[in-house]
Amino acid sequence: MNKIFCSICDSENFILNLKCSNCGSLIRENIRTINIGETFQNFLLNTDFGIKKVLYSEKKNYLLLLISLLSIKLTILTFFDISILDQKLITTLLKLNLLVFSYWFLFILLLGVIFKVLIEIIVRNKFYYKDSLTIIAFSFLYFSVVGIILFLLELMLFGKFFFSNNPSIFQINLYKALAVISLEMIIFLYSLFLLIRFLVFILHKKFLATLLSVAFLIFIFIGNEILKNILGAY
Ligand SMILES: [Zn+2]
Repeated sequence: MNKIFCSICDSENFILNLKCSNCGSLIRENIRTINIGETFQNFLLNTDFGIKKVLYSEKKNYLLLLISLLSIKLTILTFFDISILDQKLITTLLKLNLLVFSYWFLFILLLGVIFKVLIEIIVRNKFYYKDSLTIIAFSFLYFSVVGIILFLLELMLFGKFFFSNNPSIFQINLYKALAVISLEMIIFLYSLFLLIRFLVFILHKKFLATLLSVAFLIFIFIGNEILKNILGAY
């Protein structure tokens, strides 16, 4: 576990504690709210500082918005994934976007519970559900926000054929398709890197942080497979 020492009584405290568990004095700076523009910049230029500010913030504003945006992006990716497998299904399935969105939204809330429990076991300290969701929502900040802007670009380039496999976006324009897929990969990998950094900050163990991040990806992958099975029933 990542520790912070009280400057008054020298007792050991969990990194996210605001006040010393022994003497009650303030052990770190208190940040009121998250500044999203600043966070965007910090994550890129001063990652660990940005992570610290988000986790130390008293009010986790933007949390629900970011979870919603992440759910939208995952909804888009599910449809993109299905279109590769079965193009006939896609037009009927697109009408179910609200259902798919709700599924991902609830799935992220559930992942937050799993993360909270796992982190509590590792650090042997109380870890709030809100902080667990904050880690997920904010590490995928670029993936969600830039990802949705990227989707608009993809729609401009390929229109409804973005969700088609005949012709696929690679057949329509190989270079443009490769360019957008590369951008998708870059923001995804950077989000994964942020997730690992967030977890390193809390756990102070690189290996466990990486392991947990890989577990997170596996959960998302399984979630997508379950969803495809559910949609296949329609
Ligand atoms: Zn103290």
